[in-house]
Amino acid sequence: MASLTVLGLETSCDETAAAVVRGAVPGPGEILSNVVFSQIAEHAPFGGVVPEIAARAHVETIDVVVAEALAEAGCRLSDIDVIAATAGPGLIGGVMVGLSTAKALALAAHKPLVAVNHLKAHALTARLTAGLPYPFLLLLISGGHCQLLGVEASDRFHLYGTTIDDAAGEAFDKTAKLLGLPYPGGPRLEQLARSGNPQRYRLPRPMLGRPGADFSFSGLKTAVRQIVREGDFSSGDEADLAAAFQAAVIASLCDRTRQAMARFRDDFALEGPAILVAAGGVAANGAIRAALAQLCTEDNFRLEVPPARLCTDNGAMIAWAGLEEASSGRWDDLTVPPRARWPLAQGAT
Ligand code: AMP
Ligand code: MG
Repeated sequence: MASLTVLGLETSCDETAAAVVRGAVPGPGEILSNVVFSQIAEHAPFGGVVPEIAARAHVETIDVVVAEALAEAGCRLSDIDVIAATAGPGLIGGVMVGLSTAKALALAAHKPLVAVNHLKAHALTARLTAGLPYPFLLLLISGGHCQLLGVEASDRFHLYGTTIDDAAGEAFDKTAKLLGLPYPGGPRLEQLARSGNPQRYRLPRPMLGRPGADFSFSGLKTAVRQIVREGDFSSGDEADLAAAFQAAVIASLCDRTRQAMARFRDDFALEGPAILVAAGGVAANGAIRAALAQLCTEDNFRLEVPPARLCTDNGAMIAWAGLEEASSGRWDDLTVPPRARWPLAQGAT
């Protein structure tokens, strides 16, 4: 397969990102540049992402970020083969900014456009980094999503489980807020949990032992809130509660993943070694990675986790997903719409 050089734009949440990736399927690809401008400082005073602020910040920075990505890669627009941008799912204002920018670039430079599904980009990142073969099982744990999917091809996904309420990252961020940690709380909660005793508080283990592989985290968050407000909790106990919360999330993630592993093996008639990919911002969590690695050892899976900077939102994963689409002959025309919702598989949200 011929090598392609792809410019990828990502604006679906609170990161304005652009990257240039060169390569061919099945990967790995070469990341020539990967510029991420985080809006965290702008949203921090509100304790979460404010869609209107995000959209305006994307407008203000996207052109600079694209110019930087091209310069760092040592490329001009004429050197780019394909322009890819997140077209959803995500905060619609932000998606509109990135997709419209990509359309303008594609039109002006006479380049093909690929409208990328953001979840697909997370799913395919391990091909960019490690050239992973299909099929693999994907645990996608991010700020907005929590899903277990069998990935058969770049356009074939089997949904095994999804969250019935909060996403894993959302649960981390809301719990961190309850513990008085600044936004975004996930990484800070992990840090705090390192010095805590996970046995001190008893928290529910959501969905444990239930059939299927769906997730639920809102009950866990409510249990934490009750302890903070009415329980045996005072200043200085935050680390113990953070550790208990993280242990409960890990137990739930592992239980659900084990269920999906069995379904995945069945669906693809796999008896030997199989592959589990963990992606999304929460996969940056070291304790979660360690627990998944253990689970994989027990169930004859190999764990593949992209480096943390490629687990959170970035332009390189969008460029790679665009590269896979273009390599399969899938392009989009300038009428392709931005989408707030865009499920990867039947039944997914
Ligand atoms: P994403 O939505 O993929 O950009 O990832 C962002 C989400 O990942 C946010 O909810 C973060 O709080 C969460 N996150 C990032 N790092 C960690 C970590 N080390 N532990 C738990 N959650 C994390
Ligand atoms: Mg994301």
